[in-house]
Amino acid sequence: INTEQSLMRAMSLFTFNSTFKSNVRFCDIFSMTSDGAAFQYCCDEFIEEYKDQTFDQMAGTDARGFILGAVLAHQYGAGFVPIRKLGKLPGEVIRLDSTSEYAKNKLELNPSHVKKDGKILFTDDLLATGGTAQSSIKLIRQAGGQVEQAAFLISIPKLGGEKKMTDMGVKVYTLFEME
Ligand code: AMP
Repeated sequence: INTEQSLMRAMSLFTFNSTFKSNVRFCDIFSMTSDGAAFQYCCDEFIEEYKDQTFDQMAGTDARGFILGAVLAHQYGAGFVPIRKLGKLPGEVIRLDSTSEYAKNKLELNPSHVKKDGKILFTDDLLATGGTAQSSIKLIRQAGGQVEQAAFLISIPKLGGEKKMTDMGVKVYTLFEME
């Protein structure tokens, strides 16, 4: 099975649900990640994309951003920094409101986790309106980290997230695009 076939196969495993979150075509990434070969293929694509770079840390947002972030942190010998929803992180935290395609959240980061001036790659499962990534990256920058790149399994370009990222000086890499 070649690269093109692996890509098509991984893509075919994502499932969609239109009643799970109102008015949103919800994409379930776990129907893909639960398949060993497909998950490995997707992770390898990201590893290949960033193989000529070094990172101090990965940062990912609660909870599906932890998956790719942790895989890449291990691959590059980088640390992993969590951005979590309200009340989940111990210690002194900084907090920002965020709005996603279907939810309003308060996101928190413990600044002591962030390497000052460190080169940090932001990761999440999906980029929709970009609200979640925008608030997450603002928190990391507020804590002194440098974020110039972000990686997502999936993007929905018509919702404007990619533009939001570009406007913040963040270069986006995604494996799949959906309508
Ligand atoms: P946004 O802030 O609008 O870019 O939304 C991105 C965040 O919300 C990510 O953390 C995703 O996990 C989640 N999300 C938004 N829209 C969807 C969707 N259609 N399917 C699955 N997850 C989504």
